[in-house]
Amino acid sequence: MPNERTILSTCEWRIPLSDLDYGAEEEEAALRVVRSKWLSAGPEVEAFEREFAALIGVRHAIAVANGTAALHLSYLAVGVGPGDEVIQPAINFVAAANMTVAVGATPVFAEILGLGEPTIAPAEVERSITPRTKAVVVMHYGGYPCRMVEIERICRERGVSLIEDACHGVGARYLDEDKGRLDGKMLGSLGDIGCFSFFSNKNLATGEGGMVVTDQDDVAHRVRLLRSHGMTTLTWDRHQGHASSYGVAANGYNYRLDDLHAALGRVQLRKLAKNNERRRGLVEEYWRHLALFPRWVLPFVGKSAAGSGHLMAVVAPGIEKRAQAAHALKEARIQTSLHYPCVADFEAFHRFGSGRLKHSRTFADRAITLPLFPTLRAEQVEEVCRLIREACA
Ligand SMILES: *Cc1c(COP(=O)(O)O)cnc(C)c1O
Repeated sequence: MPNERTILSTCEWRIPLSDLDYGAEEEEAALRVVRSKWLSAGPEVEAFEREFAALIGVRHAIAVANGTAALHLSYLAVGVGPGDEVIQPAINFVAAANMTVAVGATPVFAEILGLGEPTIAPAEVERSITPRTKAVVVMHYGGYPCRMVEIERICRERGVSLIEDACHGVGARYLDEDKGRLDGKMLGSLGDIGCFSFFSNKNLATGEGGMVVTDQDDVAHRVRLLRSHGMTTLTWDRHQGHASSYGVAANGYNYRLDDLHAALGRVQLRKLAKNNERRRGLVEEYWRHLALFPRWVLPFVGKSAAGSGHLMAVVAPGIEKRAQAAHALKEARIQTSLHYPCVADFEAFHRFGSGRLKHSRTFADRAITLPLFPTLRAEQVEEVCRLIREACA
């Protein structure tokens, strides 16, 4: 249970890992919804979906309760079920794997490309495909695109669904040097379905919230049905007089977003481009300082133009050095984290086994995530880097 003590202690970070860009516009949006006396899914959700679909450049955006619900509905919409396998990166948040198990399927953990590019390796995807493979989930680590041209080709050739966990990548574009058909498209619109989260620490934050995006009408239809109990109309439709009753066409869930969160999301959407730009500038600043550290690996260095700047992760030369850096920053009341432990190594996934995950495990042992948020200042970046240098000298 959170009490006053724990609330105080979370405020004791001098530089937190992430921080919201929230102000008068968000307050006004929340007030507008409160005063409208329509709190559940209604006009704000509809507007948020329209605006989000326009941003990503897709036919359909379906707002949901959180990013995990987005993944769950995506699996169900492409028909992942008992006996199926879902290939996914071993370095990821646990949601994609948990939802795989939730639909009765087996997660198959694939290796990342390497310490400098901790996204799923296309060759490992290809190697992991079996007759039971139903879907591949990619995760654009830190908002930097996976190798989508190769992965998309593999999935298309093998008739496997491609789902993007784009929770880190909102507002980022895919840049393809060969100028193929994916060039310039937004992350989340590169496969069959894209999943987003609006959790408090994401680039577009509403507290809880998520979105499913797709160009496929049948997929969108199934996601909409399953989002709200399988019911054929929403309370909002009936309130507006568009319908007076409902049918139940599938066995669904209650994964709806509500108007309060959607109103916040619409404000955050307007701030996204500017805030992602600031994040990219700060990442460049980190890279400038950290490039001077021998044997430290800077994932995606030089690729800031192609990312959302969601995370600032760096890989220490060893487990010891990572511990020294984390300790020194904690002493200075600077928050750090790890994105992520190797999912296959969590107790809850031991029964599924794992293949060669050498890079993934090394990454999990040596990576550290440093503070990054739009209002972080360049002096603070410099201080973080100086403390790491001193601690590891
Ligand atoms: C945040 C996140 C999720 C889960 O989103 P929730 O909204 O917290 O359910 C899933 N995958 C990744 C990569 C994330 O960062």
